[in-house]
Order: sequence, then C-alpha cells, then structure tokens
Amino acid sequence: MILPPATLGMLGGGQLGRYFVMAAHRLGYKVVVLDPDPASIAGAAADHHIVAPYDDQTALHKLASRCEAISCEFENVPAATLALLEKQKPVRPAASAVRVCQDRREEKAFLRGADIPVAPYLALLPEEPIPAQASELLPAILKTAREGYDGKGQWQVSNLDELATALAASGVPCVLEQRLALEGEFALTLARSPSGAISALPLVQNWHSGGILDQTRSPANVPALESEAKGIAEHIIAALDYVGVLTVEFFLVEGKLLVNELAPRPHNSGHPSLDNAACSQFELQVRALCDLPLPEQIAVRPALLINLLGDLWQNGTPDWAALLALPGLHLHLYGKGEPRPGRKMGHITVTGDDWPTEEERCRQARQLLGLPPR
Ligand code: ATP
Ligand code: MG
Repeated sequence: MILPPATLGMLGGGQLGRYFVMAAHRLGYKVVVLDPDPASIAGAAADHHIVAPYDDQTALHKLASRCEAISCEFENVPAATLALLEKQKPVRPAASAVRVCQDRREEKAFLRGADIPVAPYLALLPEEPIPAQASELLPAILKTAREGYDGKGQWQVSNLDELATALAASGVPCVLEQRLALEGEFALTLARSPSGAISALPLVQNWHSGGILDQTRSPANVPALESEAKGIAEHIIAALDYVGVLTVEFFLVEGKLLVNELAPRPHNSGHPSLDNAACSQFELQVRALCDLPLPEQIAVRPALLINLLGDLWQNGTPDWAALLALPGLHLHLYGKGEPRPGRKMGHITVTGDDWPTEEERCRQARQLLGLPPR
C-alpha cells in the first residue's frame, strides 16, 4: 500500500488529470504532473508540473524518481513511455492494457477474441485496396485507429466512393464500423486494485450530440442492463489483467449490449460521481493506484450531467449566477483559457432526491444555457 503523504505521478494534464490531483490532495498525497503544455490545468493544480513531451527520457526519469506510482489520464500516452516507467515504478493501468485501448484495431480484436460483442467492422489501410466485404458494412463510420476523441477522426460514409475518399483523406490505418441503430448508449466505470478487489460505479446512460457527450444520467436505473454491463466489464478486466480505473462504453442494439470502446481511465460520463457518489471515479483511481481498500458498494443519488462546450461562450459568458440559483446545481469549470467550439470547458451536475424534480431543473438549466431540450 502506498500511503499519504507519498507523491503520485500523473501523465496528462487536462481536466481528468486535474480531478485526479484534487482527489489525491484530499487524501493527503502530493502529485507530479507531466504534460507538454505549460498552461496545463492539472499542472497548475499539482505540486509540481514537468513541462515536457511524453517521450522525453530525461523528463520521464525525473518523474519516476519523484513519485511512488504513476497513472495516466488519457490513452494516447505512448505505450513505450509507460513501459519505460514500469521498469522504475508501479504504473497502473499497465502499458500492456493501455496499448490495447489506444488502437481501435487491437481493442476490437481483443474484444472479439474475448467473445464480447462489438459492432461489425473491418480494419482498413489507406495504401491497400478496399476489400469487397466493406460494402456489407455500409452505411458506416470510418474511424482512425489511433488518437481520435470526441468524434474527431471520424467520417460518415454511405457508399464505396465516399469510403475511398475518406480513407485517402485519413492517410492512416482505420476501422470501418457499421452504423448501428442505437437504442441507447451507456457506460460503466469500475476500478480494480492490485490486490484484486473490484469496485464499480452504477451504470450511466449517455446522450451524444455531434459525436461529443452532451448529457449523462446517473444511475441509468436499468437493473438488467447494469448486471449485463458489469458481467462484460469484469470479463474485460480479467482478460486484460487490468489494474486501475476502466470505463467501458456500450451501445444498446436490439436489446443487447455491444462494447463501443474502452477508456483506460476515468471518463466524462463518470463525472456525476464527483457530486452524487460516496466515492468519485477519481478517488477510485487514487485508491486503485495506491492499493488502498476499494469500497464494496458505492451509494449514489440521482444526478444529471450537462457538458459545457466552448460553443456556449459564442455570445458571451453564460449566466452563471442564474444557473447557480437553481437548487441542487453543481457548477464545474475546468479553468481552461480559450472557449473554442467543441472544447470541454466544464460541466454542470444537478443532484436531487427524485427524478421528476431533477429533470425539471435540468430542463431549466438547458434553457438558461440556450441548449436544445433533451
Ligand atoms: P469519445 O472520445 O467521446 O468516446 P470517440 O471519438 O472515441 O468519442 P466513439 O465513441 O467511437 O468516438 O463515437 C462517438 C459517438 O458516435 C458514439 O458515442 C455514438 O454516439 C456515435 N457512434 C460511434 N460509432 C457508432 C456506430 N457504429 N453506430 C452508430 N453510432 C455510432
Ligand atoms: Mg466514445
């Protein structure tokens, strides 16, 4: 067990890293963040910020020498970086697990191999001819194998011509995924400690807009789906020998859950846990990293989350005072500089004791923000 006041390392300096720092501080730990951006919001909250690229060997040695264990806030940290750090300090999740999650081809092959249902797909290379089976997947979504997020690096394609154009435009390995008629989207965030204990937050339901998460309901309150999702997620954790926080994104299609993708970290849809749960997803991340006991059950209150994207600033700063006047509303602003369209600037969570009141407050909040009703 790594006990406070030990120093922990965090690779990545966005809002997820920042909440990790806050959770670690609350428990009495110190945190060193490594992120190349001098304006990193997690770096600003941490005890120390190493400003360096993720493959800077000197910086990595410095990080390892200053902390007792290391985690990451995003899956695009080079797996070689994690492997190098692993030789010096515990890294959770391990390089081998992050490697699978950072490439859609590997991730889907792993899931298929573990008998977990995924959307029908094909791996494609821009320099190779498109195989005949591709037409069976249309209409489809072409996704870059690596580095996509918030719907970036994705093309909707309805015919082979559009596919050829999109694949050439991508210029990188991709997966072509059948476009499914989704009956709903869900996510489950869970943690496993080095000792093998597992703790899960409740299943949440997600609504996306333009490929970006718009709203989340926690808990989803669908017991049958929740136990199906937990079964799948625990199977994944076992197959990857996973330690740390993992989020599994699900599609509901014809009443069954398919796995969309894996995030080897806390997740935007887990943010309600900051306000509605006895243990947040970031505290779970700290506990799993340090091998502290994990809670057996995490009690939650009903909560609805609305993401605040940079688009909301187009006509000036949103009316925080009016929003904060709504009972049960929790405002989270990440402290980022420029509110660009599509950039996650913050979120709000509405908590309460019953869904009708909560839904009404959420409707009012959306109206105050100028967002269309959900
Ligand atoms: P994020 O980082 O926000 O999770 P991402 O860029 O990794 O996003 P995906 O999760 O693959 O992208 O897709 C984003 C959203 O696009 C999904 O949540 C879903 O709403 C929609 N989508 C993706 N794949 C499909 C599909 N095969 N069929 C229908 N809708 C899809
Ligand atoms: Mg996704």
